[in-house]
Amino acid sequence: MAKRDYYDVLQVPRSASKDEIKKAYRKKALEYHPDKNPGNKEAEEKFKEAAEAYEVLSDDNKRSRYDNYGHAGLGGAAGGGFGGGMTIEDIFANFGDIFGDVFNPFGGFSSRSSRRINKGSNIRVKVKLKLEEIANGVDKKIKVSKYIPCDACNGSGARNATGHATCSTCRGTGQVTRITNTFLGQMQTTTTCPTCNGEGKTIADKCPKCAGEGIVKSEEIIPISIPAGVGEGMQMTVSGKGNAARRGGVNGDLLILIQEEEHPELIRDGNDLLYNLYLSIPEATMGAAVEIPAIDGKVKIRIEPGTQPGKILRLRNKGLPNVNGYGKGDLLVSINVWIPKELSREEKALMEKFSQSRNFKPDPDAMEKNFFERMKSYFK
Ligand SMILES: [Zn+2]
Ligand SMILES: [Zn+2]
Repeated sequence: MAKRDYYDVLQVPRSASKDEIKKAYRKKALEYHPDKNPGNKEAEEKFKEAAEAYEVLSDDNKRSRYDNYGHAGLGGAAGGGFGGGMTIEDIFANFGDIFGDVFNPFGGFSSRSSRRINKGSNIRVKVKLKLEEIANGVDKKIKVSKYIPCDACNGSGARNATGHATCSTCRGTGQVTRITNTFLGQMQTTTTCPTCNGEGKTIADKCPKCAGEGIVKSEEIIPISIPAGVGEGMQMTVSGKGNAARRGGVNGDLLILIQEEEHPELIRDGNDLLYNLYLSIPEATMGAAVEIPAIDGKVKIRIEPGTQPGKILRLRNKGLPNVNGYGKGDLLVSINVWIPKELSREEKALMEKFSQSRNFKPDPDAMEKNFFERMKSYFK
């Protein structure tokens, strides 16, 4: 199904301010809220559609790309972020706070939006790989500076087992509820307790090692296994190996960004490798056995007599493996012929002899017939 225009989805003009967009989204989100429309697939889709529109239009960068290039400007995933694959949980995790200050007569959903997942932050590291490592896959150990749970307090942040106290603001529930009289009647608002951040308890006696944070800076050697066929810019996620969360919770992830080192002789094109081979005039005319570099050492190839420059030899399966685990690319050898720039007196005399020979004149009958087709395929 074609995507609807984001401005239409939120029913705002293209000139709408950030505030207008936020208000419009809140209105739509409340209208199609899953707690208000249980089991209603259409409402759920509308709820997601509105969140997607809001994700883009609330972000200056994404909005300007969308304004200029439409949906195409945002790449494959609609919002560039979680886009089309957004789940209801994602929406609450990302935009949950938008419901936080809304009066709502439907009890349930404020508490849902105020649910907080305490997650440590992700750590990003770059890993540089040689083409040989990419060809075979590689195991590496990387040293990461990160937060780990404090060993003195077991990550709790309190000096000892009795160091915690029940939060007096929310009496341990992690939420505060307010009753307000409005023209619609009594409304109940539930938000995360500001005193304990939803944890339900406060620390009466802080752990001296981590100052009550529950985490301390440390270093960890993390073994990672990089599959064959990865490429520049790819990202791998090692889940749970990022920073520990403050005072318990889930660890963040370790994100590995792949960088590729240039090979001195081979050029990568997807899973194929390219090599530019120069032959001497005698080699190209009389044929030869030459060695060329490949990913796992040298390869011997046979050059047929009368090989023309411009010819491309394809060595099947001598390229890189597909990162998805099936198939391999090829090694393409582009043939060039080296023309000497200087000649001795004798060589000049020989060349003059060659120039008299009919064999050294270009032969129109033997020339490539599909040159135009081949060129077109290059410039496509
Ligand atoms: Zn501690
Ligand atoms: Zn509290």
